[in-house]
Amino acid sequence: QLTGLPSRQLLIETIRQHQEETAGGKVCAALMLIDLDHFKDINDSWGHDVGDQVLFKVARAIEPMIDDTAMVARMSGDEFMLFFPYAGDDPEQGAANAMATATSIKEAVAQPIFYDGNEFILTASVGIALLSDHETSAERALQYADTAMYEAKRKGRNGIAFFNQSIADKAQRQIGLNARLRKAVDNQEFALYIQPQVDVENGRLMGGEALLRWVNADRVTNMPSEFIPLLESSGLIIDVGHWVIRTACEYIRNFIDEGIWEDHMRLGINISPRQFNDPQLIDVIEHSLRSYEINPAYLNFEVTENLMIEDVESVIKKMAEIKALGAQFSIDDFGIGYSSMIYLKRLPFDWLKIDREFIHNIHHDPESRGVVEAILAVSRQYGLHVTAEGVEDQQSLEILKTVGCDTYQGAHFSMPVSVDRFREYLAA
Ligand code: C2E
Ligand code: MG
Ligand code: MG
Repeated sequence: QLTGLPSRQLLIETIRQHQEETAGGKVCAALMLIDLDHFKDINDSWGHDVGDQVLFKVARAIEPMIDDTAMVARMSGDEFMLFFPYAGDDPEQGAANAMATATSIKEAVAQPIFYDGNEFILTASVGIALLSDHETSAERALQYADTAMYEAKRKGRNGIAFFNQSIADKAQRQIGLNARLRKAVDNQEFALYIQPQVDVENGRLMGGEALLRWVNADRVTNMPSEFIPLLESSGLIIDVGHWVIRTACEYIRNFIDEGIWEDHMRLGINISPRQFNDPQLIDVIEHSLRSYEINPAYLNFEVTENLMIEDVESVIKKMAEIKALGAQFSIDDFGIGYSSMIYLKRLPFDWLKIDREFIHNIHHDPESRGVVEAILAVSRQYGLHVTAEGVEDQQSLEILKTVGCDTYQGAHFSMPVSVDRFREYLAA
């Protein structure tokens, strides 16, 4: 009532009627959902009366941007839905026209609004759904515009996004996966695999790297690339990471008790930047070491170069604290990130792990071999031990021997295995 605009119901009726009239034709219609960014803040700090007046002015600003075949409806609170029955002759033209209109609407919304001696500056997120078939129901089309609008918000607001099925599918999958991951944390559906690490020169077992697996209720084993990004973005990585540290210590304790762990061995534990910044990290490490009575020297924390885009000084400080316990550090996936030799000099690493990218080409690509040799030379300079990741065949191993790499892991010796299988390697 406030804005004098038609309601959602009238909009749906109009879309239906339009679809009936144009059935069989090729015309492309467009639905556009405009949502004001952070409008709640205005309501919260100025009160609803002011909010309403601002909304009224926004509605008046939008109106001149659209021609009289289009219809504007107020959906709820700070949302406006626009229907363009004749956006174009085909989806391509419809998309281009809708984009141009959305851009001018965004500009209109961004003009300062004056009310009661105050100035308000707003931005909007716009979602667009194109309607080029007559199969899609009006309600469904409204949902599509909504999905697109959320995509625009997700990308940082003040933007325009189009709906397409792949966006909707992706959103659906993410929601499903996220919910399942939360359950996985509660139900402890994670497993810690171990990939053996071996001396390049004489094949002696040097320990291994702990690698996370998610074995879900259907017994399907999911790989880290599928779920670690989600654990990261949801923050669940913190809890799972604590579990990884405790479990790694528990395994080592068992190996020691079984008399199969040797003093020169180490277990690598991956720590993502988000985990590294967790204020509880050191406590969890200390607590795990103490409760399983583990020599800290058996742990080797692997961090990637991504960590260094953060505040390097505080990274150095925290590494030093963990090293003071007696644990070691590796720089993981070296060569593919923000590799900078200066970090090798400034940060107290013990090991460098050369990324698989360079290793798996080493015997047929002279350039990869050159990179590996250069990395080795620099590592010697800084007193770092070097591990090669992803060694898949004897030829690559021979080259690593020639160039003087210390240890390796990879399919040539063994891919990551369950703790029971790893135990067999230790006992052998
Ligand atoms: P990463 O730390 O670089 O681990 C090495 C990856 O290379 C592992 O992948 C391993 O299975 C794979 N790999 C080793 N040898 C070979 C080989 O010869 N051929 C091929 N094709 N692959 C090989 P995975 O287990 O899928 O782990 C991927 C990444 O996920 C890890 O890379 C690590 O960054 C992350 N990740 C795994 N577990 C954890 C964890 O507990 N915490 C955190 N924060 N990250 C983890
Ligand atoms: Mg690693
Ligand atoms: Mg790696």
